[in-house]
Amino acid sequence: MEQYILVQKYGGSSVANIDRIKSVAKRIIESKTKHNQVVVVVSALGDTTDELEQMAFQISSKPPEREMDMLMSTGEQISCALLAIAIEAEGYEAISFTGAQVGIKTDKTYTKARIQTIDAKRIRHALTEDKIVIVAGYQGVTHNNDITTLGRGGSDLTAVALAKALKANVCEIYTDVDGIYTTDPRIVKEAKKIKTITFDEMLEMASLGAQVMQARSIEVAKRFNIPIHVRSSFSKEEGTMIVKENEKLEDIDVRGITCNKSEAKITVCAVPDQPGVAARIFNEVSKIGVNVDLIVQNVSHTRHTDISFTVPRTDLNKALEATKKIAEKIKAGEVVHDKNIARVSIVGSGMRSHPGIAARMFQTLADNKINIEMISTSEISISCIIHQDSSDLAVKTLHKKFKLGRTI
Ligand code: ADP
Ligand code: ASP
Ligand code: MG
Repeated sequence: MEQYILVQKYGGSSVANIDRIKSVAKRIIESKTKHNQVVVVVSALGDTTDELEQMAFQISSKPPEREMDMLMSTGEQISCALLAIAIEAEGYEAISFTGAQVGIKTDKTYTKARIQTIDAKRIRHALTEDKIVIVAGYQGVTHNNDITTLGRGGSDLTAVALAKALKANVCEIYTDVDGIYTTDPRIVKEAKKIKTITFDEMLEMASLGAQVMQARSIEVAKRFNIPIHVRSSFSKEEGTMIVKENEKLEDIDVRGITCNKSEAKITVCAVPDQPGVAARIFNEVSKIGVNVDLIVQNVSHTRHTDISFTVPRTDLNKALEATKKIAEKIKAGEVVHDKNIARVSIVGSGMRSHPGIAARMFQTLADNKINIEMISTSEISISCIIHQDSSDLAVKTLHKKFKLGRTI
């Protein structure tokens, strides 16, 4: 008989303390009695991962990345064991595994490793023994058995990848909100829950700062067409389905708004306006493994131009060092930076066929005296870099302007 396989992932806030772990255990048992095979992926308790990271940075400003992965992966080892203990305490059989134990093999890119293969034999075997399987999220192991992590928020990726490897019927992501909202409900209380959203839109929202799902997990879900149900671990309500396509979408121009405060801006002033200089600057930055995001180059009237770009704030020092070196070599001027920026974006597949959206966005920001420092667009999104102090105002007024909210 075909087995019904359910993969569930519980995020850090869902298992933040012992009471929550016990109530998650009960919820898992309920699912187990309805569906016969349940595999659970769990994140570290509450803010454990942040705390582990802070401890390392109290010792060194540049801790070795291999050791960071050894350290940061331990949070999930604690939570998966505690959850298995809680399930056993309720009289059900459970077994917990680390990423390595369930054959999640990755490349060697410590702190943001990519999954290469999963050998789900051990999980399948435990399922045939009628056990509830608990897997530590966010981690894998290299072919040399070194522990790696999958980037922050990586338990989402573990869940989606396991759903693919096990050919699961459903992948449920349990978190502290009851679905995907039109914008972060912590910032805008009028934010509205979205019933269904496409992989493309969710991928764009996640990449542009909606923390609720890790972007890489959506990439995998999209590639293998694995529908995801995002829902709350504190209620029984239906959440949001992330799916391939949604027929009703045509009418909606803007589906959601995101804000990303984790980038910084670097500007190289007075760059000689010659072929090849941009290539030299960005080659140098990419050599040190820093991802450059948004780039703006001004028009040159004086045979010199300014080039600005954004990088993850965590990489700012590394990027500045490399940029200053190359600026000197190409005889550019000063290199300046700004940490207080935010990227506010509007996202929606309907944008492709609705003209005038960008103008409405810029006008809304102007009406609120918010200066736009950089602009970038994709097929289904428009982003503006603005000063961080104005970001909440920008999100709230754009949310209102595009009529995304519910009336409360
Ligand atoms: P978990 O610990 O379960 O992985 P996260 O903290 O990573 O949870 O993600 C959930 C949080 O994402 C929510 O508390 C919410 O504030 C934030 N968030 C940001 N944008 C959105 C959005 N558009 N919809 C829902 N939640 C969002
Ligand atoms: N604990 C990891 C983090 O905080 C992974 C996750 O929660 O998904 O990033
Ligand atoms: Mg998360």
